[in-house]
Amino acid sequence: MKRMEGGGFEARATMGTTKEEDKAVMTDENTSSLPAIFSSTNEKEQQVLECLKNVIDPDFGENIVNCGFVKVLKVSESGKDVALVLELTTPACPVKDEFNRLSKEFVKRLEWVDDVDVIMTASPKSAMADVPEAPPGLRGVKNIIAISSCKGGVGKSTTCVNLAMTLAQMGAKVGIFDADVYGPSLPTMITPAFDKLEMKEDGTITPVEYEGVKVVSFGYAGQGSAIMRGPMVSGLVNQLLTTSEWGELDYLLLDMPPGTGDIHLTLGQVVPITAAVVVTTPQRLAFIDVDKGVRMFAKLEVPCVAVVENMSTFTGDDGKVYRPFGRGSGKSICEAYDIPHLIEMPIEPGLSSGGDSGTPLSLSDPTGPIAALYQDIGACVVREVAKINSGRGPTAWEKSWTISTPRSARTTC
Ligand code: ADP
Repeated sequence: MKRMEGGGFEARATMGTTKEEDKAVMTDENTSSLPAIFSSTNEKEQQVLECLKNVIDPDFGENIVNCGFVKVLKVSESGKDVALVLELTTPACPVKDEFNRLSKEFVKRLEWVDDVDVIMTASPKSAMADVPEAPPGLRGVKNIIAISSCKGGVGKSTTCVNLAMTLAQMGAKVGIFDADVYGPSLPTMITPAFDKLEMKEDGTITPVEYEGVKVVSFGYAGQGSAIMRGPMVSGLVNQLLTTSEWGELDYLLLDMPPGTGDIHLTLGQVVPITAAVVVTTPQRLAFIDVDKGVRMFAKLEVPCVAVVENMSTFTGDDGKVYRPFGRGSGKSICEAYDIPHLIEMPIEPGLSSGGDSGTPLSLSDPTGPIAALYQDIGACVVREVAKINSGRGPTAWEKSWTISTPRSARTTC
């Protein structure tokens, strides 16, 4: 498909459908000013729209026409070729290849159609849109995701780094803010070519970059870990986050320090956190701590969209799967607070050695089973955030009530 002068798109015939053609073609076209739902009085275009109504977004439970994803629809002068532009809620949409394939498949069922050309754009809503006083360096950030745990050493930073790399592989622009001033892990876990934060004359900070992901960590400030009192730490974290030039990002991941202290509350007040991912381990003791963490997010009106139960299992030399820490704190927390996704991450020596060597496993083995689990987490985050941004997620009232009140303590009316 080629862009025409005046903003239209022109259909072009291509031959055959291969597996490669199922892959979505993305462009940077800005279609956000086009009408919310495409409609047409042209008979052929109406037929195409009817076909597209068979393509259902699995998360919204609605067809892609009514979801407002169809932004441009053209039938060529020959009357045989159709060109479409679909606008997604995020470039990392996990079902974009499916949308591409199904749109072509259904439209080609019209007997007059020879060829269908689909391109996709993404116009994510910005988390900062409703924050007029947002610091300039954060204005291009669309979504802020907190990666949190209530204890140290459960694998929060490992989850954060591997998830960031995965979201970038899915097509998103990603940043990581390492909010752990006492023990920043990122300088060990990734190896950027240039690993010092630079401060410009105007006082803004340029993030370090690794594999296309922008990273800010106290560990890159050349200070090592810090011995400071709480208020100093909160001030420093606030300053690092808000004076960094993040540019355009689809997802900024906050690698939170362990616990539920001042820094968490400060961050929750300084920036609008879109959603949280909670990392825990299977022990019963972990449940009690995670419970505190989920309640803290409830106070901040941040929905928890997924629980990662890390170090859930390991596979022995005998091929058997063992659960060394028992079963279930992740499941209990999801059930108690209606958190929609639980991902069990096994103990995997490659994750640990990847963390120590500075190359996360999701990068060194992108098609392996662990990378697939991070892709699952990525898909959960992308989907739930899209729901939240479209108003289909929990309302503020539901967020604070449903999340802060365990199922067992609720009464029905
Ligand atoms: P936290 O951020 O919660 O303090 P880290 O992500 O730093 O925890 O992980 C602690 C240690 O455990 C690191 O050495 C890391 O490589 C290792 N680790 C984390 N998750 C796993 C896992 N699933 N399998 C094996 N090692 C892991």
